[in-house]
Amino acid sequence: MSAPDEQTQSGPRAVPGSVDVAVVGAGFSGMYLLHRLREMNLSAVVFEAGTDVGGTWYWNRYPGARVDVESLAYSFSFSEELEQEYEWEERYPTQPEILRYARHVADRFDLRRDIFFGTRVTAAAYDERDAAWLVRTDRGDAVTARFLVMATGCLSFSKLPEVPGLERFRGATFHTAHWPHEDVDFGGMRVGLIGTGSSGVQSIPVIAEQAADLTVFQRTPAYSLPARNRRLRPDEIADMKAGYRAFRKAQRESGFGVPVAPATKSALEVSDEERDTAFEAAWESGSLVNLLTAYTDLAVDLAANDTAKRFVHGKIRQIVKDPQTAEDLCPAYPFGTKRPCLDTDYYETYNRDNVHLVNLLRTPIVEITEKGVRTSAGEYAFDAIVYATGFDAMTGSLTNVDIRGRGGVSLKEAWSAGPRTYLGISSAGFPNMFMITGPGSPSVLSNMVVSIEQHVDWVADAIDHLDRHGLTTIEPEPQAQDAWVDHVNLVGGFTLYPKANSWYMGANVPGKPRVFMPYAGGVGEYRKKCDEVAARGYEGFSLSPDGPAQQRPADD
Ligand code: NAP
Repeated sequence: MSAPDEQTQSGPRAVPGSVDVAVVGAGFSGMYLLHRLREMNLSAVVFEAGTDVGGTWYWNRYPGARVDVESLAYSFSFSEELEQEYEWEERYPTQPEILRYARHVADRFDLRRDIFFGTRVTAAAYDERDAAWLVRTDRGDAVTARFLVMATGCLSFSKLPEVPGLERFRGATFHTAHWPHEDVDFGGMRVGLIGTGSSGVQSIPVIAEQAADLTVFQRTPAYSLPARNRRLRPDEIADMKAGYRAFRKAQRESGFGVPVAPATKSALEVSDEERDTAFEAAWESGSLVNLLTAYTDLAVDLAANDTAKRFVHGKIRQIVKDPQTAEDLCPAYPFGTKRPCLDTDYYETYNRDNVHLVNLLRTPIVEITEKGVRTSAGEYAFDAIVYATGFDAMTGSLTNVDIRGRGGVSLKEAWSAGPRTYLGISSAGFPNMFMITGPGSPSVLSNMVVSIEQHVDWVADAIDHLDRHGLTTIEPEPQAQDAWVDHVNLVGGFTLYPKANSWYMGANVPGKPRVFMPYAGGVGEYRKKCDEVAARGYEGFSLSPDGPAQQRPADD
C-alpha cells in the first residue's frame, strides 16, 4: 500500500500526493467505492466537481425531478444497518429526498474527509515505468495513484441543442442538468422549454403550474407512463425491511435490477382482451418496467411491440383533448427503444390553456434569438428558456477528461469509432483504470444502484486479488475485449433498441459513432459473467507483477 506522502494543495485541506486509488466523482459510485477501499485499508482520494456528494442528484435539481425506481429499491444494500435505519418518505422520491439520503450516507460512513469538493479532474496519464496514474485537477493538484477509477456517471456530461444563437437570448436560461441551487420562480413568465425526454417530461407539469405561459418544443415524443407516486405506508416499509435480504437477491438476479414476475407468453398469442387487461394493469401499476416486461417479445419483436405502442397511443388520445396535440405526442418508434419516462400529469398538462406544443418535426428550430426561439414557422418570445436537452451519454464524462493510457494514447482516440471495453469495466491500453457502469455494462438499462454496487464490489475485489498475489497491473487482453464488444453488439442486435435514434445509440450527439452502448443481456446474467471471469483468475485480463513485459519502455 502506498502511504499518503508529499502533499499538494486544494482548498483548506491538503490533497495527498500519492494514494492507492484515485476516484473521480462522489456520486453513489464514488461514495460506495471509497467506503469499500477504506475497509481494505487502502488509501484513496475522491475528486468531485460539485460542492457536495450525490452526483446526478446533486446536479439535476429541476422542478419535478424524481427517480423512476422505487425508493426502497433505489438504495444501497451494502449495509443492513443503513437499510434498516433510513426512512424513505415517498414511493418515488424527489431529488431533495435522494440528495438527503446521499448526504446521510456520506456522514454516516464519514466519507467527506477523503473527498475534495469543487475540484474537477482535467487529465489522467498512465506512467508505464511506474505503473501508476498521474491525475491532475483544475485546482492544480497532481496525485499519483496505483489505480484510477472513473465513477463519473453515465448521464453527467450535459448537452445544449445544436442551434445557432444560444448566447443571444436576453432572458433567463436554464439547463435541467445544471439547475440553480436557489429556488427558481417562473411566476408570471412566458417560458419556452426544449426537449421531451425524462427531464422535460418531469419538469413540464410543474413549470406549467407556475408560468403564465409554457411552450414546449418537441423533436421526438417520449413514451411516458403514469408514476402513481404516493407517500409510502408504514406497513410496506416494515415489510420491505423485514424481507430485504431476499429482495436484494432477487434484484441482483433480475433483468433490470428490479424484480418482476417473468413473462410467459408472447403478446401475439393472447386475445386482444387479455392483452388489454395486462397492459391496463401495467399502466395502473405506476412502474417503468411492467409494461415492457408484460410479454416475452415486446422488446424483441416489432409486431409484438406494436401492440404496446398502440396501447400507449390510445391512452394519449384518451387523455389529451386537442386531437392534433395528441397525434404530435404519439411516438412513431417502437415502445421502450428510447428510455420511457414516468410522469405525474404529463399528458394532462397539454389540456391546460397556458401550455402549447410545437412539433419540431414539422417546424424545426432555426435559431435562438434575443427574444426567444425562431422556428421555420416564426418567432416565439420568452422571458426564460429551459433546455431539457440531455447528455452526451455514457462516454461524454469519460472522453471529455484527457485520459491517456499506454503510449500516451487518449481514451477519446481509442474510442473514436465507439466505446471499446471489456465487461464495461475497463479498456485495453488503459491498465489499472476502471469505469463504474461503463459502456458495455447493463448500467442505464438497470436500477443504477444495483449495477453500481456490483461494479464497485468487482473492482474492489480485483484490486484485492492483485495485492494478495503480488501483482501490479490489470488490463484487458485485446481479444477478450473484441469478443465482449461483439457480444454486446450481438445481444443489442437481438432487441429493438437499435431501431430508435436514442442516446443509447449516441444518436443525440451529432458526429458521435452510432453504437448501442449498454449491455442488454440483463444484470443477473451479466453478474454471473463477471463473477466467472473473476473466479477463473480474471480470465481475459492480463495480470502482471510489473506490467506486460512486451509493453515496457525500451530503456527499462
Ligand atoms: P434526453 O432523454 O436525451 O432528452 C433530451 C430531449 O431534448 C429529447 O427530447 C431530445 O430530442 C431533445 N433535444 C436534444 N437536442 C435537441 C435539439 N437540438 N433540438 C430539439 N430538441 C433537442 O435527456 P433527459 O430528459 O435529460 O434524460 C436523459 C436520461 O436521464 C433519461 O433517459 C434517464 O435515463 C435519465 N433521467 C432519469 C430520470 C429519472 O429517473 N426520473 C429523470 C431524468 C433523467 P430527440 O429525442 O429528438 O434527440
